[in-house]
Amino acid sequence: MTNYKIAVIPGDGIGHEIVPAGLEVLLAAGKKYGYSLDTENFSYGAGYYLKHGKFMPEDGLEKLKAFDAVFFGSVGLPGVDDTLPAKDYTFKVRTSFQQYVNYRPVRVYPGVTSPLRSTTPFDFVVVRENTEGEFVQIGNQYLPDEENGMGVDTSIFTRKGIERIAHYAFQLARKRRKKVTHVTKSNTLINSLSYWDRVIKEVAAQYPDVAHDQMYIDNASASFVLKPEVFDVVLTTNLFGDILSDLGGAIMGSLGLGGAGNINPEKDFPSMFEPIHGSAPDIAGQNIANPLGQIWSGVLMLEHLGEHEAAAGIMAAVDRTTTGGVLSADLGGTAKTDEIAQAVIANL
Ligand code: ATP
Ligand code: MG
Repeated sequence: MTNYKIAVIPGDGIGHEIVPAGLEVLLAAGKKYGYSLDTENFSYGAGYYLKHGKFMPEDGLEKLKAFDAVFFGSVGLPGVDDTLPAKDYTFKVRTSFQQYVNYRPVRVYPGVTSPLRSTTPFDFVVVRENTEGEFVQIGNQYLPDEENGMGVDTSIFTRKGIERIAHYAFQLARKRRKKVTHVTKSNTLINSLSYWDRVIKEVAAQYPDVAHDQMYIDNASASFVLKPEVFDVVLTTNLFGDILSDLGGAIMGSLGLGGAGNINPEKDFPSMFEPIHGSAPDIAGQNIANPLGQIWSGVLMLEHLGEHEAAAGIMAAVDRTTTGGVLSADLGGTAKTDEIAQAVIANL
């Protein structure tokens, strides 16, 4: 039986409810599919910041390095300023551990009504570049006075950064329906994003068996709503991927349904699995948060670890759960967070 070392970081808000729910499902699946998890809890996050003045201890990253993966909820509390990069747990882990792939799948859950009128099923993955681009947090605010103030952020795209995410997307497409749509806005961001386009096209030429097209972010956003079935692998930058994956959550029916992986494909560092949504302080502490995005994140973690049968088994159990009408409040149901986890376990 393979044993995996998993760092568990609930973070803040609903993380304290959905992470334990997700973990229970992963542990139950381990008994059935023959793996075990050796877990250790870490209290990093905005709650930690309120006590210690930082989001994690100095040796926080060093400690996480020893694990096979990180199972994470979300960080953030009202009243804790999350605009200072030094405080941002998520940003630090993603960049330090070279988790340059943010893998965010979007699909129709059976039994869940999408807000889209069309009933054509969709099933695609947003591959978001996760370490550079618009989120490098380099810039400044010049505030000589109210009138002459100015804010500057710099986007950085490197050949290495674009090539590696592009190769990941094209290789992923080979295992799926063999289509990559890359999304930029190079007609207006004419320096940074036309460079992105150029490098993507060079990589695309190395995958003649994969269809490749390009969309601008405005058109892609509209297409997510009007014809999401045209997508297979959506390859995009950090900022656009952030926005598109919330939209992906919305067309599934709720942000609470979206799972994600921050992946270091080379496995030089642990990868981190977290839902697409935030810590939802507005509904925290009530046992009403939807745990399915967290559970799906756990499924992506199992896939990364090579436990494919267990991953498929949990997703089938999730489908039986939603088909059976066990739905949380965000989906119009009455099931509580822990009840949904128990229903998934019963359906395993
Ligand atoms: P972040 O900046 O961390 O992404 P955010 O400001 O985008 O956070 P979220 O915490 O994602 O905000 O919450 C957005 C809305 O979605 C809130 O109304 C929240 O209650 C709802 N929401 C988020 N996650 C869930 C969930 N798992 N179940 C139910 N509702 C959720
Ligand atoms: Mg958000």
